[in-house]
Amino acid sequence: MITINNPATGAVLARLESDRARSVREKYDQARAAQPRWAATSLRKRLDAIQAFRDGVVAQQEKLARTLTEEVGKPIRQSRNELNGLLTRLDFFLAASARSLREQKVFADEEHKLDERITHEPLGVIANISAWNYPYFVGSNVFIPALVAGNAVLYKPSEYATLTGKHIADLLHAAGVPADVFVPVIGDGLSGAMLLRQPVDGVFFTGSYATGAKIAASVGRRMVKLQLELGGKDPIYVTQDVDIKAAAAGVADGAFYNTGQSCCSVERIYVHESILDRFVDAFVEEVRRFKVGDPLDEATYIGPLTRRAQIGVLKKQVADATRKGAKLLLGGHAIEGKGNFFEPTVLAQVDHSMLVMREESFGPIIGIQGVGDDDAAIELMNDTEYGLTAGVYGNDERRARRILDRLHAGSVYWNCCDRVSPRLPWSGVKHSGIGLTLSTYGIQAFTRPKAWHLRAA
Ligand code: NAD
Repeated sequence: MITINNPATGAVLARLESDRARSVREKYDQARAAQPRWAATSLRKRLDAIQAFRDGVVAQQEKLARTLTEEVGKPIRQSRNELNGLLTRLDFFLAASARSLREQKVFADEEHKLDERITHEPLGVIANISAWNYPYFVGSNVFIPALVAGNAVLYKPSEYATLTGKHIADLLHAAGVPADVFVPVIGDGLSGAMLLRQPVDGVFFTGSYATGAKIAASVGRRMVKLQLELGGKDPIYVTQDVDIKAAAAGVADGAFYNTGQSCCSVERIYVHESILDRFVDAFVEEVRRFKVGDPLDEATYIGPLTRRAQIGVLKKQVADATRKGAKLLLGGHAIEGKGNFFEPTVLAQVDHSMLVMREESFGPIIGIQGVGDDDAAIELMNDTEYGLTAGVYGNDERRARRILDRLHAGSVYWNCCDRVSPRLPWSGVKHSGIGLTLSTYGIQAFTRPKAWHLRAA
């Protein structure tokens, strides 16, 4: 049994039966039996189902946004943004799948009557274990291209986004994806672990490094495709030739949007010393303006933390930083009450001995550190176990590109941050994960390229 609480009020929203060993096995068996039929339907028919899913999302958008806000605490405007972003992703998959999956003739030699081709075979039955912070984004990055490519999907939404996961399943089934081809598995990490005991053909996980590492260790020996989209400690470097106010506004949004609970939230800020004080003042002024409160209120920008346990992580980071000499400029405390609220928090005079600059915060808290030059900034930005995204703010494109070229991250940004595009591959290096989603590569990721060597007699 899992209990779903509203993180803004503590109220119980639902109690649901969890899947356990037997039901997970039955679901796996159903998906295994159904997958060849799904793969044998035409690509056109599978894409029609995704188009119908898109129509269903549009028709129910406000209801879906409200469930997301009630369940994970995402401010309602940001829930609507996530659903609009989902539609953009669906449009990309609808437009790009046929060309990504078509058979390719890569060589023809008439003299030797030789023909070489590549086809994209579905993997089979895949497990998709998902996170709660952007359930529509991180889920659809996996299950949409997986279904389009002809796979069956056992989808385990996070226990913190289960009602959203059930909406997704209902909408896909109503759109024509058979119930035994897209199969939700309900529950917490235990249900996830049971799912991974099934002989699936691929494991696609989005979540923390700690869980990802456990999954990698247990799945590694089975020689099936494994993709892990994990956490980050994403840095931004603000050079001296910027419009300080505009840069402060952009970076503050990147750090505090979704209450700082994005995998690519800005988690560390480095600022050229010559503008440090002015930048810090402008930044604090921006953050002061963010309205904290009821996520159903249209004006709210910062809602509750989805998981209550994260409050302890943030308190520990603040205490550690201030003990080591950081200056607390704003916030720093949990807000008393039934909801999981934490004040937007800005720390200055931080350094890399502090947890706030080393460990994923995943909340409304940020550290700002001054740097003397580009080399020092690059060294600090790369001084992390993670490598999801990194960015530079400044007017000089050549300088920015020189810096970005030396950053170890899956995505790099110039004058923007906390941004994902369906047209570009989404991946991380080091503890941020292995494999990728999105872009045409992220469609082919759900296939096994098969090599055809054909020689006419
Ligand atoms: P989590 O690791 O706690 O849980 C993720 C999922 O794994 C959940 O569905 C959970 O039930 C399941 N799980 C837990 N233990 C398991 C086990 N032993 N076996 C199988 N499944 C298990 O992560 P979370 O709190 O849901 O998500 C937050 C984390 O996800 C952050 O670190 C964030 O940066 C990361 N994230 C990364 C991306 C990305 O694209 N790189 C996107 C979103 C979130």
